[in-house]
Amino acid sequence: MKSLDEYLDDAGHAHGHLCAGQVLGVRLAMLGLRKLEIDDPHGQDRKRLVTFVEIDRCATDAVALVTGCRLGKRALKFRDWGKMAATFVDQSSGRAVRIAARESSKQLARKRHPEIADKNQQQMLAYREMSDDDLFDVQWVRVTLTPEDMPGYKGERIVCEQCGEGINFHREIRREGRVLCRGCAGERYYEPQ
Ligand SMILES: [Zn+2]
Ligand SMILES: [Zn+2]
Repeated sequence: MKSLDEYLDDAGHAHGHLCAGQVLGVRLAMLGLRKLEIDDPHGQDRKRLVTFVEIDRCATDAVALVTGCRLGKRALKFRDWGKMAATFVDQSSGRAVRIAARESSKQLARKRHPEIADKNQQQMLAYREMSDDDLFDVQWVRVTLTPEDMPGYKGERIVCEQCGEGINFHREIRREGRVLCRGCAGERYYEPQ
């Protein structure tokens, strides 16, 4: 693993700016890796890790950067819960740890650096200095990954009987004897025009 400063440097470049969310995300991911004793997520340990993120904000980019888990590799899973939290799953041991930023971390940052008026600057500095215990709650959890959730999974591709589009990874829905994609089954996030 790199040092906090090195990761923050990388994160600032990759994300376009350095912000409090990045600092929190880098530290959250580093703690997750340490708990799982994964030292080299980009090298020899790169196939061990699957990460679930629960928010799509600045911290998400930082978590992806530190862990090397990417959506396009199926190693990064997004659960849209709006929470500053992530779960790290070690596929080699089956262990998993969920790390959530504590709601009190903002107040602690204010207490620590009342002299800095700018919130982002105040939190950026405080989040570098605060202890893991002040910043995060850590919970050992169990995550069941189905074969089709695994990064390397290759399966049959199936075609939606309504729209004719192909569906991978068993994401189809079977209803009244028909095979449908999620959109045609009513889970659309868009309206056709
Ligand atoms: Zn940001
Ligand atoms: Zn369809």
